[in-house]
Amino acid sequence: MLCSVDSVFWSVIMKNLSKYFSLRELTFSKIAEDNDIDNTPTPDALETLKYTASQLDKVRELLGRPVNISSGYRCLQVNRRLGSKDTSQHLKAEAVDFKCELFGSPKKVFDKIRESDIQFDQLILEFNSWVHISFVKEGGRRESLIIDRFGAERVK
Ligand SMILES: [Zn+2]
Repeated sequence: MLCSVDSVFWSVIMKNLSKYFSLRELTFSKIAEDNDIDNTPTPDALETLKYTASQLDKVRELLGRPVNISSGYRCLQVNRRLGSKDTSQHLKAEAVDFKCELFGSPKKVFDKIRESDIQFDQLILEFNSWVHISFVKEGGRRESLIIDRFGAERVK
């Protein structure tokens, strides 16, 4: 028989935030696990994360292939350990870094989203290695940037 505590635990961890994404996928952090940091979102961040996941569903459907998230929500400690700024949208659960290798290269994914009508806030191709996307409920800037070791460049 399953231990009831375990089954409650798993139902929370595996809980889907949206059609395609689970809480686990959007909060997992290797740095948090390795350093025993609790990366559980605050209630406000959890609400935002649900919205972010619902927007990410549109990306998933646009690409037509599974999306692999490397970083979603980050608490302050995790974000600082990663060397990211305190103003990062990951802290607010608004941003996600991902790849979609079954669709194509990060550049191909970036172009496909940029040319779609998805209402992102920022879309960033980072170091040609992954795509960062953020969403806000109102006033999304629909700003596309390419960031590499030389700096950031805005793309139309
Ligand atoms: Zn990011």
